[in-house]
Amino acid sequence: MDSSDGLRAGATTHRHPDEAVRLGELLSSSVAALDNGRCERGIDLSREAITLSGRLGDRRAEAAALGLLARHLSRAGDNERCSDVCDQAAQALRALNDETGLGEILVVQALALNELGLSEEALNRLAVAREVAARLNDRQLLFWVLNRIAVVHSGMQDFARAKEFQLRALELASSLNVDARFCIVNNIADNSIGLYRRLLADGGAGTAEAATALREGLDHSVRALELSQHPTSGTPYRQSLAWDNHGMLLALSGDTRAGLAAILQARRIAVEHGFQSMEVATLHHGAFVQLERGDAAQAVGELTVALARATAMGELATRMEIAQELSRALEATGQFEKALHHYKEFTALERQVSSAVAATRARRLEQLVEVDHARLDAADARTESQLYRERSRALEMEIQALERLAADLDRRANADSLTGLSNRHHIEHELPRLIDEAAAQGRPLSLAVVDIDHFKHVNDTWGHSVGDEVLVALAALLQRSSRGGDLVGRLGGEEFLIALTDLTEQSAVDVCQRVRRSVQDHDWSVVRPGLRVTISIGVCDLVVGDDVRALIDRADERLYRAKRAGRNRVESYPGRVGKEAS
Ligand code: GH3
Ligand code: MG
Ligand code: MG
Repeated sequence: MDSSDGLRAGATTHRHPDEAVRLGELLSSSVAALDNGRCERGIDLSREAITLSGRLGDRRAEAAALGLLARHLSRAGDNERCSDVCDQAAQALRALNDETGLGEILVVQALALNELGLSEEALNRLAVAREVAARLNDRQLLFWVLNRIAVVHSGMQDFARAKEFQLRALELASSLNVDARFCIVNNIADNSIGLYRRLLADGGAGTAEAATALREGLDHSVRALELSQHPTSGTPYRQSLAWDNHGMLLALSGDTRAGLAAILQARRIAVEHGFQSMEVATLHHGAFVQLERGDAAQAVGELTVALARATAMGELATRMEIAQELSRALEATGQFEKALHHYKEFTALERQVSSAVAATRARRLEQLVEVDHARLDAADARTESQLYRERSRALEMEIQALERLAADLDRRANADSLTGLSNRHHIEHELPRLIDEAAAQGRPLSLAVVDIDHFKHVNDTWGHSVGDEVLVALAALLQRSSRGGDLVGRLGGEEFLIALTDLTEQSAVDVCQRVRRSVQDHDWSVVRPGLRVTISIGVCDLVVGDDVRALIDRADERLYRAKRAGRNRVESYPGRVGKEAS
């Protein structure tokens, strides 16, 4: 059995003092649970830390908690979930630009993937982690990467290849802590067992290679045992691991009695601390040794117990190995029928293991497809909202165009097409309003009706279009002479109207004289050389009881008076001399 440490604690930020303290406690308790092998507790603590760090918005603590959760899940044997959590942690660490953390979590994930039988995926993760380690020149990370690559290779039964990586890791371990040193020497011992058994199975028990494997394995198992009992870094789990490997190596070297004793010691520790997988492993290994020394009946007993335990724990791979071993032990005792039964169980399990690997692979593929779908959906949603925005922009523009059109129609309905002034229709609409307002507020309102003098002559002399130009120019002059609240319009032909708000008749006459003079003085030669234009104006003011008609009629009447009096004049109330002047 290999060991799987390799952790550096994450940092936290402190925004909400109480909760931040709690978060710090959760994280360090989770680390402690890892050391004590209490993975269920560690899982709970890590989950709580993830929730709390999420609430505090502490990304660094969240990544650390995810990393711890992954490690606990790995210890608990929940490799599939471990790998998923590793993906989350990796994403968080990438976002934090924490390359070391990323490298470390990839190492954890590689172990989980390897346990799931996904050795290729495991090696892919390790290749990335190795790059990170090289870039950062991180010896510790590189050590764990090499160590895990070896684990994957020994999982693929390529013990020789595993050993190469282990030896390189061992070189790095001398400068590292006890955790790292224990791990590598224990793994070398473990791998030596595999290598030796492989040579044994291939009929190479007596070769120099086999002897070396045994000797090296034994040396390293002794070293692992020492390190597992280290006063500060030693843990019961490591002791159990080290005793088990040491026992196997002793037994393989021929000392089955001492080997069995060591394995029994491993089992005692495992039982005492509730390391269930470890306990089953020692039963299995103990039985193997008993079988080696010819005590098949005893082996059958232990393997039967081990098989039941592994079945209860749902550990397929372990069950498979034990079923095979049991079949072998039963064969040795002459119980061929039972041996055959367990051999069949072994092959069935082997199929089950490989289909479980296939199923895991399929599930992971499905997840990837789902992620892809989610990504596509998000892209679709973006496109859709883009389309929506464009459509609403087009709609907005359409609305604006319609509004412009409506305003234009409105303006055209109210405006005289030649001069742009209010037309008769608009005047008839607006003037009553001005009259009502002035009457209601007791404010003065005067009305001027303007008519061009001898306009027929202008048309006759210069043409109708020059007449039009004169109308346009006059409209501009009238507009310019009026104020904001005044109403300036064309009554028809060459007749105009100005409603002068807030002006008494007297003041209105003054304004009209100015207008009359401005027309007379205007440089009409820009329209046509020699052209001269004058106007006549009739002015009156609003009196109680006036309606639109009465008001206009009175102004008109005065306009005709102005015409009769010689034109180019302003006429107001009778008696007042609305004299022209030049
Ligand atoms: P008076 O000084 O008495 O007002 O003489 P007048 O020639 O201005 O008056 P009259 O009513 O005899 O003639 C008005 C002319 O205005 C007749 C018409 O052809 C012309 N007229 C009316 N509307 C327009 C127009 O839109 N454009 C042009 N160019 N001429 C117009
Ligand atoms: Mg006229
Ligand atoms: Mg006229």
